[in-house]
Order: sequence, then C-alpha cells, then structure tokens
Amino acid sequence: MNGKLNLDFTLSKGATDFINDTLFHEYLGRKANPVRVREIIAKSVSKNALTVEETAVLLNATEPDLIEEIKEGAREIKRKVYGNRIVLFAPLYIGNECVNDCTYCGFRTSNHDAHRRTLHTKEITEQVTKLVDTGHKRLILVFGEHPLYNAQYIADTVKQVYSIKSGKGEIRRVNINAAPLDCAGYKLVHESGIGTYQIFQETYHKETYAKIHPHNTVKGDYMWRLDGLSRAYEAGCDDVGIGALFGLYDWRFEVLGLVAHACHLVDRFHCGPHTISFPRLRPASGVQLDEKWLVNDAEFTRIVAILRLAVPYTGLILTCRESADLRREVMAYGVSQIDAGSRIEIGGYTEAGDAQQQCIEKEQFELADIRSLDQVIRELAQDGYIPSFCTACYRLGRTGEHFMEFAIPGFIEKLCTPNALCSGIEYMVDYAKPETKAAFEKVEQATLESMTDGVRKAKTIEKIKLIRETDQRDMYF
Ligand code: SAM
Ligand code: SF4
Repeated sequence: MNGKLNLDFTLSKGATDFINDTLFHEYLGRKANPVRVREIIAKSVSKNALTVEETAVLLNATEPDLIEEIKEGAREIKRKVYGNRIVLFAPLYIGNECVNDCTYCGFRTSNHDAHRRTLHTKEITEQVTKLVDTGHKRLILVFGEHPLYNAQYIADTVKQVYSIKSGKGEIRRVNINAAPLDCAGYKLVHESGIGTYQIFQETYHKETYAKIHPHNTVKGDYMWRLDGLSRAYEAGCDDVGIGALFGLYDWRFEVLGLVAHACHLVDRFHCGPHTISFPRLRPASGVQLDEKWLVNDAEFTRIVAILRLAVPYTGLILTCRESADLRREVMAYGVSQIDAGSRIEIGGYTEAGDAQQQCIEKEQFELADIRSLDQVIRELAQDGYIPSFCTACYRLGRTGEHFMEFAIPGFIEKLCTPNALCSGIEYMVDYAKPETKAAFEKVEQATLESMTDGVRKAKTIEKIKLIRETDQRDMYF
C-alpha cells in the first residue's frame, strides 16, 4: 500500500462555492422581527422549504417565547410529514485506518494511541450476523479515509453485507459514511446497491476548516469535500446525506451552511439531500476540545427545531452521541432517524459483551446513549412512536427526484405508516422482549385506528396477520 489515494481531484461540472461567509455573517447580525419569525414558521408549517435568509431569521430569534413558537412549529410539521414513526439503524465501523489528521477525531493519523484495525471478511459476517440477530435491518458502514477503503473495497463490503442471512432476518439497506470519491468511485459504489452516501462537511467555515484539517492531507481540500456529493449525483447516486459537526465553529453559521448546501443540491439536481446529520463534538482519544464553540443543550434543541422547519422533507438523523434524555426530547421537534444499540469500537458488536463499555482508544469518540436496541424501542413505543425498519422506498426506486414526487402529495403518510407498522411488528414477533411487545400493542392499535383509508387498512391488517402467523417477512407497499 503506497499510502496514496487514487483520486483525480476533478470537481463536478457545476462545482461552485455556495458558502458566502460575508452574507451569512450579515444575515446573522440582524435583529429578529417577531412578525417575520411567525410568517416564516407559518410558511414551513405549510410544507415549504425555507431559504438561507429565512433560516437566519429563525436563528436570530432569541426571545424565549419565539423559541417556543419555533419548537411548536417544528413539532407540527414533523407530525404532518413524518407521523409518529422513527426509523432505526446501526453504525458498523469497518476500519479506522486513516491518512487524515482531523484534530477532533480519535482516528486521526497522529493519534498513536488508537488501536488500528480493519475487519476481515469473516469478522464482518460475525458483526452483521449479531446485528441481524438483535433485529437490525438498516446499517451505515463507516470507514476512515485510507487507500485500503477504496471504492471497490466499499462496494465489495456492501455486497457482502447484503448476502448475509441469519434466522428470519437480513440487512435490507446499507448506507455509507466514508470519504468523498471521484465520479467513477461513486458509480461503483452505487452499483453495489447502497442507500444513502453520507459525507459531513464538518464545518462550512473555511478558516476553521483549514485550521482543523491540515492542508497537506486529502481532507484539507475544502472544495473537494464541499463538491463531494455533487459528484455523487453526477455519477447517478441521488440519495445523499449531508452533515456538520457542531462545536467547531458558530452553530448558527453551520445551520446556514447546511441549508445552503441543501438549496444548492435542489438548484443543481432538482433534489435535496435525503438526510441531514448534526452531530455534536464528543470527547475522543487525545483530543483537546476547544470550549469556545461547544453547543449547549438549549442551543442544540434550537438547531433541531430550526432545521426541521428549514427542510420539511429532509430526514434528520440523531445519533447515540447524545444522551438518552436529550434524544427523547428532540425526537418531538423533528428527528426522523436514530441509531440504537450502537457499538463504535471495531468488532464491538461481538467482542464487547452485553455490558456496553466505553473504550476510547478503540473508538472514534465516546457515545452518550449506550442502551440496547430493545430498550430504545421500548421507550419509543411507550412514547407513542412506531419503531420503523422500513426500507421500501429505496427498494422500489422511490428515491431522489422521484422520491420527492411521492413525498409532496402526501404519499408518505399512506405508504410509510403501514410500512413502519409492518416492520415494527416483524421486530416484535422475531426479537422483542415481552415488556417491549406489551408497550408496542397500544401503538399498533392506535395506528390502525387512525388509518382512514379502509382498503389500505385492510391490506395492512392482512400483512400483519401473515407476519404473525407465517414465516413471511419483508412485506411493504
Ligand atoms: N473518515 C470519513 C470522513 O471523515 O468523512 C468517514 C467519517 S468519520 C468515521 C464519521 C464522522 O464522525 C465525521 O465525518 C465527523 O463528523 C464525526 N466525528 C469525528 N470525530 C468526532 C468527535 N470527536 N465527536 C463527534 N463526532 C465526530
Ligand atoms: Fe479520518 Fe474521518 Fe476521523 Fe478525519 S474524521 S481523522 S478523515 S476518520
């Protein structure tokens, strides 16, 4: 291995720098006018995405009453677009070799305390089998940036994961969080059948970006990363996830960066990102966190609510980096996907034992919510959510521009609720503890009662019966 990545560093045809620092700062320096704030909330609640400038108006609202109105608007739009389902997934760290030296990450190349490891084929099978046996259906594979983890390797790993069966289950959707690729690389990975390709810009603020990503590393190239998902679209992947790592620079600037990124993708490809992630910086091996930009819980809840309003149709992902209590709170403001039962040390699903322990030298960063999948699902059910493992849309080609056609006229409600219910029931029948099943019964009942389309309801009941009484699985609309 020569330590070089095989990339041609050609940006996509329409590559532009859509992050206008001066304009962002100008927007953020304005005083919020309550009338305007309310107009903007109303615009979003009527299912319209917001502009960068409108999002800044919400960010500038600091009066407690206005903040509460923003959160109430977020709750309402979440209920309208997503109903009461929460999609569940698990991360699977494949390898932590890395050529970059991101100052905030435990995997950075200069961290000699990190235990470097890449899972072998057999180990991948063991990890995936364990995940399937706990009930997972959706994974995100996570990679450091290293020549070992080239596009062919990622594609082969995806195919391997899809081929693994255990009991009545298998993984039905594999997402990726890895370094940006060139177009040829994305094509290869896309052909392996991935769901979402996720890349976080970390910070949209160029000066900060340069400080924390040494310029002589691949990741030091801001534009290569900013343009990373546009290349993915050009290569045919229309299902992408953007994100920013909160705590590196002013959180309000990062929210504008995310919204500007989403708007840019809509302008160029007529389709925004499928998901947005907004992880907060966590302690990591040998990392000195700079306190200056760390985001407190009150600010974090505002981030979630404002993003929900800004991009009503984009999935919002919240990970186990956050505590169980905070996850529970912000779920209501707009989060649509969470991970659960996550182990981020490499090999952790089989090697850590049942009692989850933190082992910072083996992890990229520390997790705050280390409950099991079943515990998380029980709490979701107790709070009235349907735990969903649904993978129907991407398997039926309802992604990208096409997906938007379905989303906008309200198809989500007709398709997603019954699909979420069927996948939730599969979990209850095949994997849940008795107390989790008991908690889910009420949600199942209430969901069926709330279905107004009689034909769809009857078909859903039919599918549920088959799941309960036969070995038939993986049924969806
Ligand atoms: N190496 C690839 C990359 O950098 O794009 C894959 C992603 S990395 C394994 C996953 C993400 O973890 C990063 O994009 C970053 O946002 C996040 N991350 C890194 N260090 C972190 C920390 N200390 N706390 C929270 N999240 C962190
Ligand atoms: Fe490597 Fe990604 Fe960590 Fe940066 S964030 S050091 S690229 S694994």
